[in-house]
Amino acid sequence: MLYLDNSATTKPYPDVLDTYRQVAEKFFGNPSSLHHLGVQAERLLTKAREQVADLLGVSGQEIIFTSGATEGNNLAIKGAAFAQRHKGKHLITTVIEHPSVSEAFEQLEKEFGFEVTWIPVNENGIVSPADIQKAVRNDTILVSVMHVNNEIGAIQPIEEIGEILKNYPNIVYHVDHVQGVGKVPLNIKKAGIDLCTISGHKFHALNGTGVLYIRKNTPILTLLSGGGQEASIRSGTENLAGSVSLAKGLRLAFNDYEEKIDRLINTKNYLINELEKIDGIIINTPKESSAPHIINFSVPGIKAEVLVHMLEEENIYVSTTSACSSRKKGESKVLKAMGKKSSITESAIRISLSIGQTIDDVKPLIDVLPSSIQKLKNIMGL
Ligand code: PLP
Repeated sequence: MLYLDNSATTKPYPDVLDTYRQVAEKFFGNPSSLHHLGVQAERLLTKAREQVADLLGVSGQEIIFTSGATEGNNLAIKGAAFAQRHKGKHLITTVIEHPSVSEAFEQLEKEFGFEVTWIPVNENGIVSPADIQKAVRNDTILVSVMHVNNEIGAIQPIEEIGEILKNYPNIVYHVDHVQGVGKVPLNIKKAGIDLCTISGHKFHALNGTGVLYIRKNTPILTLLSGGGQEASIRSGTENLAGSVSLAKGLRLAFNDYEEKIDRLINTKNYLINELEKIDGIIINTPKESSAPHIINFSVPGIKAEVLVHMLEEENIYVSTTSACSSRKKGESKVLKAMGKKSSITESAIRISLSIGQTIDDVKPLIDVLPSSIQKLKNIMGL
């Protein structure tokens, strides 16, 4: 099997699974319980929080464990907007965000009277910091920009935007860092980020685990009221085994970082070179300022889902744009925002690599792709 859908989800590392199992078995106490089983669990949770904080270069008190990035993004965006509604009603985001961001903004706009400015992208899928600057108003309270786009891999100028926003103390700056973790470095403190979302299952930890970084003193209203866990920002009995195994996964993601990234870039460059040689393929991922693990390409005339299933027959797993938008029918809003024609958006395929994949690993795709495309072209009379 050749799995090339790692931006949808990754296979958990065996060490992550071992950690999960050991913690779930031995430390089943509720961290809020007063007896020693509870105290042990609480200690382990604090240790995991400190480990995550160290790896992200922040403080343990600024880390909230969540159930993943959909929760993290909703909590960050709605929580910050509601907490600051007395200061203003204007919010800024981009047209290429993941639905867990864009739909949270749409809800704030439609149901709660906030006003949203949607920042466009250029032909490479990149937002201009100057456009963010121009959109800022006296009543702006929140700006949210993703780090790495999940469909095409374009890296956004997070630090430059952060530099601009440092001049506006009323604005909370949120970054969806989900696709960047372990692939594209991000200095949360230096970039002046107030809220930052990550998700365990995108770096070989488990589904249903995540982290929201909340800079000290950032206004945020809780969305989950209850027993006061996670600094009363996210109530609910903690997922101890999930959080400890997320810390393990994050540590593994940062081990031998540079060496792994070099290998990944080699694999990506090989794939792009080989894809460019195949008749009819157009690469949509920008050459510069793109993450080392995502390649998006189109074969105009061939519907993306048909090629996905054709490759599946060869035991090769890729996806149409992103897993989330592929369930909701329609063309890629990201490629549309980049000004691509419908022949490109309808045929867009995303390859997303795992951190360890080498050129040899991905060769089977290059071996079968030309004949698969030719077969489809023959069937369709192209
Ligand atoms: N943000 C981005 C950029 C993503 O790619 C995803 C998942 O694909 C999410 C958020 C949602 O993450 P989760 O599956 O943890 O809810």
